[in-house]
Amino acid sequence: MDRSNFENLKKWKCDANESHVLGILKRVEAKAQVDGETIRYHTTQVILFREAVDVDREIPNDIEVAGYIEGSLLMHMTWKCTCCGTTKTWHPGEEALAWLYERHGKNSRIGEQRNG
Ligand SMILES: [Zn+2]
Repeated sequence: MDRSNFENLKKWKCDANESHVLGILKRVEAKAQVDGETIRYHTTQVILFREAVDVDREIPNDIEVAGYIEGSLLMHMTWKCTCCGTTKTWHPGEEALAWLYERHGKNSRIGEQRNG
């Protein structure tokens, strides 16, 4: 990843030190299958850096990306800050789950039918 974009991107920061950047947060469109129907929603993707970047020090010219985690994965993961060793937990599914609950709440009314 090129450092030229780095300043403008939304950063996923270390809990212990805001200068430590563990990755980049990006809004992406996700798809999911619900009741046989494809639904689309926006979620957050995190681009993880292999080595955390300390913005108080020198930002590497080429930042090595370890992987991409998408919000559509309804699971969490922990990632360690290579600057100070603090672990941070990412809950990518929270946003997607909230969306699904909201949708389910609306759909549950379909079952309520009047008799007669
Ligand atoms: Zn840190």
